[in-house]
Amino acid sequence: MAETLFISDLHLKPEHPDTIELFLRFLREQARDANRLYILGDLFDAWIGDDYDAPPIPKILAAMGALAATGTDLCFMRGNRDFLVGERFAAITGCTLLDDPCTVTIDNRNVLLMHGDLLCSDDIDYQKTRSLVRSPAFIEELLTKPIPERIALAAEFRRRSGEAISMKAQEIMDVNQATVVQTMREAGVDLLIHGHTHRPNHHHFQLDGREATRIVLPEWQEGRGGFLRARGSVWTTEWWS
Ligand code: MN
Repeated sequence: MAETLFISDLHLKPEHPDTIELFLRFLREQARDANRLYILGDLFDAWIGDDYDAPPIPKILAAMGALAATGTDLCFMRGNRDFLVGERFAAITGCTLLDDPCTVTIDNRNVLLMHGDLLCSDDIDYQKTRSLVRSPAFIEELLTKPIPERIALAAEFRRRSGEAISMKAQEIMDVNQATVVQTMREAGVDLLIHGHTHRPNHHHFQLDGREATRIVLPEWQEGRGGFLRARGSVWTTEWWS
């Protein structure tokens, strides 16, 4: 039976080697037998460009490439932390890069995949910044800057976003249900999978008179990972450490 796995929000960084080890073990063990692995953004806590490859980046990319070489399809969607992932990353890891949003077919079902930040439409400041920094012109200019400058910019970006988050109400940083409904209606799906909010759940609701589901992927923490498994028509969120 075909098996598909989904992960997001690992926020890998050198300061947390345990989470990196957990991910490498996940690639060797759980993901090995899957037909396909979807990574829906924020695999890295920061990604400043494919030309920056200080340790532990090469080890992580090589492990992903090794999985792809054994026959598991790897698909990667950029998140707000790793939106600078590009073609070189894709070539080394064997990942297919996905647009956000993206509709795929799993077990004869159309499924909408997103990182999730686009659904947080109540956070107007965030959405404004997002559309600015995700524009091709901005990205092109950013990638021409020297690496030390990009490292400094990424740190500044994280600091400012941390400050903004601490000032905002919790509800503002969750998805807006009207945006969820509208996005799913436009895509013609009754299943949506995303990460970003760090509020793992399987939400069931009515969409135009039909049962609809929104699955939120868990974030990884030191010593604990989580993933969504689709096996036939059964969808389960599983934890492991
Ligand atoms: Mn995110």
